[in-house]
Amino acid sequence: MDVIVVGANVGGSVTAGDLAAIGANVILLERDFKRKKPCGGAIPPKAISEFGIPDRVIERKTTRAVMIGPSGSETGMDVRGTRAREDDYICMVTRENLDRVMREKAQDAGADLREATFVSHTEDASGKVHVTMRYRGGREETLVADALVGADGAGSAVAKSCGRPAIKHASAIQERLYLPDDAMKYYETTAELYLGNDVSPDFYGWVFPKSDHVAVGTGCRPEHANRSYAFLEGVKARAGDKLKGAKRILLEGHPLPMQRYKKLVYGNTLLVGDAGGMVAHTSGEGIYFAMAAGRLAAQTIHAHFGDAKFKLERYEKSWQKRYGTMFDFLEVLEKLSYRGDKNREFFVDMCSTKEVQELTFDSYLFKEMAKVTPAHHARMAISGVKAAINNWTQPRTPLSSGPPQITAKEALALTRVAVSDGVAVDESAFAEAS
Ligand SMILES: Cc1cc2nc3c(=O)[nH]c(=O)nc-3n(C[C@H](O)[C@H](O)[C@H](O)COP(=O)(O)OP(=O)(O)OC[C@H]3O[C@@H](n4cnc5c(N)ncnc54)[C@H](O)[C@@H]3O)c2cc1C
Repeated sequence: MDVIVVGANVGGSVTAGDLAAIGANVILLERDFKRKKPCGGAIPPKAISEFGIPDRVIERKTTRAVMIGPSGSETGMDVRGTRAREDDYICMVTRENLDRVMREKAQDAGADLREATFVSHTEDASGKVHVTMRYRGGREETLVADALVGADGAGSAVAKSCGRPAIKHASAIQERLYLPDDAMKYYETTAELYLGNDVSPDFYGWVFPKSDHVAVGTGCRPEHANRSYAFLEGVKARAGDKLKGAKRILLEGHPLPMQRYKKLVYGNTLLVGDAGGMVAHTSGEGIYFAMAAGRLAAQTIHAHFGDAKFKLERYEKSWQKRYGTMFDFLEVLEKLSYRGDKNREFFVDMCSTKEVQELTFDSYLFKEMAKVTPAHHARMAISGVKAAINNWTQPRTPLSSGPPQITAKEALALTRVAVSDGVAVDESAFAEAS
């Protein structure tokens, strides 16, 4: 069985590695080996154990998450589910390390990794896929395979080549800030999530710790993308003195899929990860889901080419069955929690409820919809009523009504400064979404 996998990051590398391990001939294409995927790099420990990621990739184990509302209200949460486990923490990684390790694992399993760009493909009457790729220097080659996997991220060229209409993308932007040791102390085991119109009118802003720096970022819908840099400044303004002495080492941005597309199989082509829109609303989490989809795609391809009665469409159905409810729930939660300051304050208050924390972390850390008992429902309802009364009787004033005033011109100037500092800015993909 010959398979071509496009995109050698988390989704593609797992697909390629798993297929190669079961004896398939796999070519894994990556358009640029040097590229760093802009990403917050927060992953659940389940990803580490399930996909054999070596511990050395983990830069920080975050055991505390702090939600900060528009008024500055705070809820600190210990990272643990309904029962304490040894790996109750969020793993913080940098993508250049994680992606390199995942690529190496795919190669060790036997995948043929090539630096080349997928251009287009066709499928002939016998079901063979003809894939045209372009190497650095411009040489083009067309290879024939039994199946093609598009794990080429947001704005997937493989999805386009399949004829899928463009899906909606949010814009996410991030700055990596080196922090002196004394400032880093606070973030050693703590991640922060900020809510408010000053940090994002649509989602949240974050400060995620890495070994010697923090990643400060935010995301917003395409209609607000031209103010992304201003929202990023908003997050930094909120973090204030905690970022004292910070020095920018990288400014990066990238689109983030905001729309699930239930069709993931086109003939003998399957879409995996961001290419399939597999990013959870509310959290923006996509790394685990890309890897899980890669594994599922590999298993489905293997089963199909062993027995044609096992249809490739089973991939879509299994994905839906496993994660559909979770994604639906998170979509609703996003609408309820992030729109408008009242909802955001309510959400921050609700996060102080033990049951909400435990169920959230059960779902995040172990990727299963947590079992909600009648007792949970009752206690969460009581907390909800309390939080609503609190918000109604003591309305809180947001610290700021919008992001720091930065015009598009200033935003551009900021980017240019960053570039002239010798800092890489991946704006090309980010611009696609704006
Ligand atoms: C700013 C930001 C912060 C985020 N933070 C988090 C977080 O903290 N936790 C989390 O879980 N998720 C986060 N995400 C989402 C996460 O980054 C993605 O969901 C995840 O990377 C998807 O993996 P993937 O393998 O599907 O795609 P990608 O990681 O995007 O990889 C696609 C690969 O395909 C390659 N490629 C593209 N086109 C071609 C082509 N034509 N030919 C050959 N190769 C090609 C690209 O170079 C790339 O290497 C964040 C995203 C952004 C933008």
